[in-house]
Amino acid sequence: MELLEEEIIEKYQNDALQIREAIEAYQKGEYLTIDEYINKGKDNKGKDNKRKNMKISKSHPRYESLKTREKLVAGFKEGYVAINGLLAQGRGECFDYLLNEKTQNFALEAERAAVALLLLSKSPVISVNGNVAALCSREICKLAKILKCSVETNLFYWTKEREEIIEKILKKIYDNILTEKTKKIPNMDSKRADVSEYFYNADVVLVPLEDGDRAGALVKMGKKVIAIDLNPMSHTSQNATISIADNIVRAIPNMITFAMAMKNLSRDELEEIVKSFNNKKNLMDAINFIKGKI
Ligand code: ATP
Ligand code: MG
Repeated sequence: MELLEEEIIEKYQNDALQIREAIEAYQKGEYLTIDEYINKGKDNKGKDNKRKNMKISKSHPRYESLKTREKLVAGFKEGYVAINGLLAQGRGECFDYLLNEKTQNFALEAERAAVALLLLSKSPVISVNGNVAALCSREICKLAKILKCSVETNLFYWTKEREEIIEKILKKIYDNILTEKTKKIPNMDSKRADVSEYFYNADVVLVPLEDGDRAGALVKMGKKVIAIDLNPMSHTSQNATISIADNIVRAIPNMITFAMAMKNLSRDELEEIVKSFNNKKNLMDAINFIKGKI
């Protein structure tokens, strides 16, 4: 609670009343009502409402984080985010806290190198799971469109129903969604091994919030694997070709900006960007940043 209070004080430096109100709200645990206010939000009037609305204003110190949680909870209620996906988000949040909940320079460098690699790719694919779909379907599809990528679902906790819901969400936004899974990733025995022929042959894959063993299996197939994972020590980050230690809700919009700025660069220029990027060093920078924070 102490750290949280410090954050609130920093945020509302000049407004003692807001500081007090925000801290009181935290202490009462009222911030949980954000669900009601972000998703429905319009059904209140009067004094109480005024106070609660203050809590979800964009200047709220935990606004982004709470909004992100709400998107996952909504995805869970709609039947396509696995309950374990909520745990994964919690795991990520812990590392995000240690990264100051900001895109640090090392992440920005990795995002730039990842975009260069995707632009150089002949057959790039972006893999989407339930959390990714809930947090940034629209942004993923926008990035895919600029980079001319295919998009394919892959679920750790697979059910036909969840897969179909996510495919339906994606198909509404983007027309290049791969759904015919006729191939298997070698040396994997779960449903996660099932991929389309196009994915099977892809040279570069972007796998946000991926599990370590699948990331490793994809590298073993000879693919260049780009991971987005807040934990620079995870098996996924350690296995990937390019590891982006950033929150997906910031990483994908950053990559969209890079993609728009870089899409007309020559192959030589793109290759130079990829060549000058050192994933091991970048991961060490992320780990050292976290060490410094502790
Ligand atoms: P690994 O198997 O790779 O060692 P893990 O078992 O620690 O990873 P999982 O539970 O498999 O982790 O997957 C969750 C991973 O996704 C965590 O490493 C977490 O940091 C990351 N993560 C969760 N939410 C986000 C997010 N919003 N943005 C980026 N990364 C996230
Ligand atoms: Mg794991």
